[in-house]
Amino acid sequence: MKLIEGAPIAETVYRECLASFAELKAAGHLPGLAVVLVGEDPASKAYVAAKDAKCRELGMHSVKIEKPASISQAELLAEIDRLNADPAIHGILVQMPLPAHLDTDEVIRRIDPAKDVDGLHPVNLGKLAMEDPSGFAPCTPAGCQRMLVESGIETAGKNVVIVGRSLLVGKSLALLMMGKGRGGNATVTVAHSRTRGLASVARGADILVAAVGIPRYLGADHVREGAVVIDVGINRIADASRKSGSRLVGDVDFDAVAERCEAITPVPGGVGKMTIAMLMANTVRACRMRVGL
Ligand code: NAD
Repeated sequence: MKLIEGAPIAETVYRECLASFAELKAAGHLPGLAVVLVGEDPASKAYVAAKDAKCRELGMHSVKIEKPASISQAELLAEIDRLNADPAIHGILVQMPLPAHLDTDEVIRRIDPAKDVDGLHPVNLGKLAMEDPSGFAPCTPAGCQRMLVESGIETAGKNVVIVGRSLLVGKSLALLMMGKGRGGNATVTVAHSRTRGLASVARGADILVAAVGIPRYLGADHVREGAVVIDVGINRIADASRKSGSRLVGDVDFDAVAERCEAITPVPGGVGKMTIAMLMANTVRACRMRVGL
């Protein structure tokens, strides 16, 4: 069994970013990312801090905007308008989920598609469906695809089963993997909460992707001998043996399936590492496109 770790593949993406960066710098441009955090959700705070830290580490311009959970829709939209108009900002990410009183769709639609480095604006999702390379693909699915490519795992003609149909992960990854580009040309099945006979559907996969949001939900019954497993899940479960009292696990029961897999991603240390890397790559590309490089 081969362990597909995220860190070395993310490093490859960062090296590409830095090379692209050097070229931008020489031409007098600095890529800038703004991350908007609304409220005090601890997981969201941690994600935003990690994105900000990585931006700074790479030498990019990073702006972290923190707003109280009580912010009104109009105030948040005004903040987006301000960032859309700011020439130093090439990428805008609004950390999800937003508090329930805010209209998430309207917020995403307000972001200038050319700055939508999270790839969730309808224009970018449309470009994803149309395989228009000028769009931005959502970072987590793009990261999953990159992991497969960098690990030398052939996807063309393979049966891929994705469990989970969210726009953020499952549905977008299905579009990427059925596309004609690198890491595409797969025969994709998307399973979800209403799928009947999930285990038998999942066992049909040469490549099984778990994006369910239920700790260790997919076990040995769901994985055929020799399959490749990409575990997108990030779930915090109680663990009395840890000082913190908890630990992170994926949507796949790693111990139960690892031995039967050809390759598998760990949690933590797998797909999670790729999401930020793809965000940085999208931001650098947004800057290049803006300045015409
Ligand atoms: P979501 O809740 O939006 O979607 C979950 C999907 O799973 C839904 O489409 C649902 O139909 C499906 N589902 C739910 N119960 C099911 C069942 N019993 N059988 C089959 N399908 C079922 O979640 P999401 O945003 O797509 O995230 C999925 C997981 O990926 C979560 O664990 C999340 O934390 C993780 N995630 C990780 C990253 C990362 O950077 N690694 C990024 C985003 C999400």
